[in-house]
Amino acid sequence: MGPRSRHAQSDRRGMSGKDDDRKPLTKLAQAGRKAEWTGMPGQPGGIVSPPVWRASTILYDDVAHLRRAAGSSTHERLFYGRKGTPTAWSLADALTEMEPGAAGTMLFPSGVAAIACGLMAVLRPGDQLLMTDSAYDPTRNFCEQILKPFGVETVYYDPTVGAGIAGLLTERTRAIFLESPGSLTFEVQDVPAIVAVAKEKGIVTLIDNTWATPLFFPALGHGVDISILACTKYIVGHSDVMIGSVTASEAWFPKVRQTAYLFGQMTSPDDAWLTSRGLRTLGVRLKQHQESALAIARWLNEQPDVARVLHPALPDCPGHELWARDFSGSSGLFSFILKGGDETARAALIDGLAHFGIGYSWGGFESLALPVDPARYRSATTWEAEGPSVRLHIGLEDPADLIADLDAGLARFRAARG
Ligand SMILES: *Cc1c(COP(=O)(O)O)cnc(C)c1O
Repeated sequence: MGPRSRHAQSDRRGMSGKDDDRKPLTKLAQAGRKAEWTGMPGQPGGIVSPPVWRASTILYDDVAHLRRAAGSSTHERLFYGRKGTPTAWSLADALTEMEPGAAGTMLFPSGVAAIACGLMAVLRPGDQLLMTDSAYDPTRNFCEQILKPFGVETVYYDPTVGAGIAGLLTERTRAIFLESPGSLTFEVQDVPAIVAVAKEKGIVTLIDNTWATPLFFPALGHGVDISILACTKYIVGHSDVMIGSVTASEAWFPKVRQTAYLFGQMTSPDDAWLTSRGLRTLGVRLKQHQESALAIARWLNEQPDVARVLHPALPDCPGHELWARDFSGSSGLFSFILKGGDETARAALIDGLAHFGIGYSWGGFESLALPVDPARYRSATTWEAEGPSVRLHIGLEDPADLIADLDAGLARFRAARG
């Protein structure tokens, strides 16, 4: 490595192609740090992280340069603020480097915007989309309220269908959307089996990979064409930014990029910068989320008032063996089902918690508890449970404090259940 690029780890691009043998944690530290984004032309050395480049107008030397810029590819080139600046390109490049087999990444103002653009990039009127019945509720709403009026039919399928997806295909099936595990009920899908069927028929596959992140499940490496993240969750990690990403294979990235441009999608450089900052520590944070969540899930599994714990790393979770085969870790989000009781008894448990916030979203450093009712968001399958469900996000607090808090919560639940 020459002295010019010593500070710009990401210039070691020879390593990020086929013969990139760096481990994922090393990539997290190095990705997205190109010399032209961290240094100044003609000056040796450079800063560690690409700074915030705020811009709308880009000024040109003369008309000829302006014309030349407009006529050539504007990808990762200063052209106009909407096409981004090095701050966003650095984050996008880093996310691409985390997904072996990826050609590029586009950024969006939220996870839902990323999902919407991923779907719009692959679907046309008359197409049929197969959507997992465990999908995030706003994903279903997009299918029903945007895709349907534009002539795309969505057919929901059992998340545990595996290779049986072949039986659902029709002439019109264009795309299969996966979410593994589902973010309320945590069924792990047989991604390789579904991908194998899709590839044989020339059908594109998309996955909402928010739970695992590319660190625990590199989706493109498992043959999926398009991987979508609500970076709002673990990539940001601090509950202070809304942002989404779509990472795609060589075959699909140009289409995704063009669709994003046409919809005018972008992210603010400040948000991209905060997200890059979060990405650097994703490895250590997820390791702790995993360890604490597992300790709490195992403890809950032994409580007499808990009917079931839905956590992919526990043997009785649907698809656990698929998780063990395909994933390299588990994150901090899981659910548990109470034994009996009603809404009021569940609220008694949640309302008195001292260390858990009550709120949507997850993936930050703080613990959250949420009442969830998965039966409301099902159409191809039915959701039956022994009592009300609670979803927990386990943050970075000491798990002993969290267990004591939940223990007191279960006592309140028992008292209220009677
Ligand atoms: C939160 C979430 C999203 C959407 O992300 P936003 O940034 O909130 O729009 C998508 N998928 C899953 C599984 C999520 O939990």
